[in-house]
Amino acid sequence: MISNKMMEQVSKSSVIRAMFEEGKRLASIYGAENVYDFSLGNPNVEAPEEVKKAIIEILQEEKPAAIHGYMNNSGYEDVREAIAQSLNKRFGTGFNAKNILMTVGAAGGLNVVFKTLLNAGDEVITFAPFFGEYNSYASNYDAKLVVVPPNTVDFQPNLDAFSDLITDRTKAVIVNSPNNPTGVVYSEATIIKLAEILNEKQKALGTSIYIISDEPYRELAYDGVEVPYLTKYYANTIVGYSYSKSLSLPGERIGYLVMPTEMADFENFVSAANIANRILGFVNAPSLFQRVIAKCLDAQVDLEGYNRNRELLYNNLKAFGYDCIKPEGAFYMFVKAPVADDRAFAEMAKSKNILLVPGSAFGCPGYVRIAYCVAYSTIENALPGFKALIEECRAQA
Ligand code: PLP
Repeated sequence: MISNKMMEQVSKSSVIRAMFEEGKRLASIYGAENVYDFSLGNPNVEAPEEVKKAIIEILQEEKPAAIHGYMNNSGYEDVREAIAQSLNKRFGTGFNAKNILMTVGAAGGLNVVFKTLLNAGDEVITFAPFFGEYNSYASNYDAKLVVVPPNTVDFQPNLDAFSDLITDRTKAVIVNSPNNPTGVVYSEATIIKLAEILNEKQKALGTSIYIISDEPYRELAYDGVEVPYLTKYYANTIVGYSYSKSLSLPGERIGYLVMPTEMADFENFVSAANIANRILGFVNAPSLFQRVIAKCLDAQVDLEGYNRNRELLYNNLKAFGYDCIKPEGAFYMFVKAPVADDRAFAEMAKSKNILLVPGSAFGCPGYVRIAYCVAYSTIENALPGFKALIEECRAQA
């Protein structure tokens, strides 16, 4: 009875989620402490104390009807204005409430942008490796996701290949930095070159091509690395932000879009995005959490927890002989599988109760993703397994 499209989705159902379920199964057999589940990007660092304080304050001080009611589909005007001013302070931008639309996380925001922009057959470009859900979101609007092959030297986008893939059907380009699954931060030089290519192509083709900057990991950047703010480099940039990782609130489903006034077709875009938010069934972003966010604009999660995990995992994997680059952001490490087949390696890892996601799920076979947003002790206890795995692979070779 279900639709053909959903039949297809069910059959391709997320590898990451499947791994998560496998983790629960193994935990029921071996005990949770003996299963090393690196499959899901579910933050283990706690939401900051300010979040709890804000929830309590709002519930105690405001009237229930004001907290829980409907509002403009774009979100509370005062919350949007507060976010705009906070961005202006941080990035020297000139936004106001009209440039902000509150969304149901980054996923909700991306769907609002796609619904607003895409006709059937339109193309959206992304750079491998990429968050696999982009495929499903493009399919929601009968658009085509065009994948730029990976640059496995440093995992910055492959810009020569990118330029060749732009056509008159290209409506948007998704940029995700810090990146899931590599943890790579796209450099300023990369962004400048990307903007240059897009400006030339827009001129040559006579079309508008939007960058969609998908940035749920913006705040998770280590060693003081700068994450360029893309609206400053390219006029047709829409930012999709989320508090899922930056404040460890993935279940609360809260984020926002930034739609700069200088982008092409701004007025129409803003009106359409507002309606898209409604007719996709989100209606508006969760009302309580909009209010919470407005009180927590300067709050941060404890990045040092992730950083300690990053150092422990990276230093040990390198010492064991694994090939990977040190991530500068997010909480993922993308490691070359010591055997050619990444799926086979992920299966081997399961025999050590280590759960990894094959790189094929991100359009980059031959690698595996390790989500290190786990307890420090989980990494410590998994290290002997990682060592044994590479030794077994070498013995097989
Ligand atoms: N984009 C990327 C790159 C992600 O990694 C994720 C979640 O892991 C999302 C979007 C969706 O984020 P949210 O939970 O805020 O919808």
